[in-house]
Amino acid sequence: MTDVTFQTLGVAEPILRALAAENYTTPTPIQTRAIPALLSGHDLLGIAQTGTGKTAAFGIPLLQKLSIGHVPPGPKQAKALILAPTRELAVQIEESLRTYGRYLNLKMTVILGGVNQNTQIRNMSRGVDILVATPGRLLDLVQQKQVQLNAVNTFIVDEADRMLDMGFIRDVRKLVAMLPRERQSMLFSATMPDDIVKLTHDMLRSPERIEVTPQGKTADRVEQKLYFVPAPQKRQLLSELLKDVSMNRVIVFTRTKHGANKVAEHLSRTGVVAEAIHGNKSQNARQRALDMFKTGKARVLVATDIAARGIDVDNISHVVNFELPNEPESYVHRIGRTARAGGEGIAISFCDSSERAYLKDIERIIRMKIELVAHNLPELTEEQRKQQEEPRRAHGHRHGGKPQNKGGHKPGGGRGEGLPHGDPHAPAKRNGSRPHWHRGNDKKRTSAA
Ligand code: AMP
Repeated sequence: MTDVTFQTLGVAEPILRALAAENYTTPTPIQTRAIPALLSGHDLLGIAQTGTGKTAAFGIPLLQKLSIGHVPPGPKQAKALILAPTRELAVQIEESLRTYGRYLNLKMTVILGGVNQNTQIRNMSRGVDILVATPGRLLDLVQQKQVQLNAVNTFIVDEADRMLDMGFIRDVRKLVAMLPRERQSMLFSATMPDDIVKLTHDMLRSPERIEVTPQGKTADRVEQKLYFVPAPQKRQLLSELLKDVSMNRVIVFTRTKHGANKVAEHLSRTGVVAEAIHGNKSQNARQRALDMFKTGKARVLVATDIAARGIDVDNISHVVNFELPNEPESYVHRIGRTARAGGEGIAISFCDSSERAYLKDIERIIRMKIELVAHNLPELTEEQRKQQEEPRRAHGHRHGGKPQNKGGHKPGGGRGEGLPHGDPHAPAKRNGSRPHWHRGNDKKRTSAA
């Protein structure tokens, strides 16, 4: 049997040259299946998370089809439309398409919210081959008659489940309704909640279905570890772990924007170059932080889930879940940031007493127990103990109303209690903090929620 290459998949020469320059030697599984299907004109449903190579999977056939018998777009028109949930992802998709299409003569632009619209209007005035957009701003510009969708012949929705999470699904539906019926469509999503299934019925025609990681399954190559650590000691633990020089490119996830800032400030104070990225920062500040991280000037990027969505940085050595996400799917997305494109990675999660229910949800969807590791932190200081006992303030542990009883399990009734006595991994006896997790913290959580 011959090995699959981009050439055997039918990719044309100018694109092959660009891929070779990027050292893409072998197509990833989603590329192997999607490229021929898309070149032959099928619609596609891709169940895949970032890191699987899905951008090239849809990007390569898109570029190839647009460049064959190229007809220039009319004013304000786009021939291909790609919708992405976040600004970062939109920018990244366009960057990737420019890379793969560098030897083609196609016009592309990005339309996103949060920045002045005038440049975007100007960029659209003579039309483009490919438009990458976030839904809200695009809808706005369409309503202002600055963008026309009547020439779109290829339509792609990326990270559809995140669109849903972020409340954009209505905008997506409105946009779908404006598109010509005769078109090729693709939808990519890491998970398939009911609303997305419905959307696929409305926008795809007999799609080829390609699922590269089964729903909810964690990227297999990621080594996952868990520390039970009281909230007031999390920063200390992070600093301890960062003494390990192999943690050279680290994304730290927090649940809140405020939390992201605080962790980044703490790290900066202790001499670790860290940048925070979250929705309260301007687009420019976010891009700057991302560039610092991508170029290795910042060792740590502290991010919230939404801001990190779609961030494509290779060679991330570690993902640290400083706080566990209250949506278990986010855990899968988070750890997918490491071990991209065939690499290996490590995901480390911190879990305090208020997060036990989240842990249980996560372990349910990844269908495994995360390996528990002991830490060597000293006993809680008096001050930390007080912090621990104070009722949680909203910013630190906002649980977004997501009840710990979801799924019928009892709060805190998970892992810790099940730890065998005398387990070498049982973390806390050493610093005396274990009883705090076991005692009434869950009551506190209820009152803070
Ligand atoms: P994506 O899932 O599209 O976000 O891609 C994940 C990462 O894999 C990106 O950094 C791509 O540059 C990289 N990548 C995609 N396809 C290949 C390939 N065939 N060979 C090597 N790297 C790839």
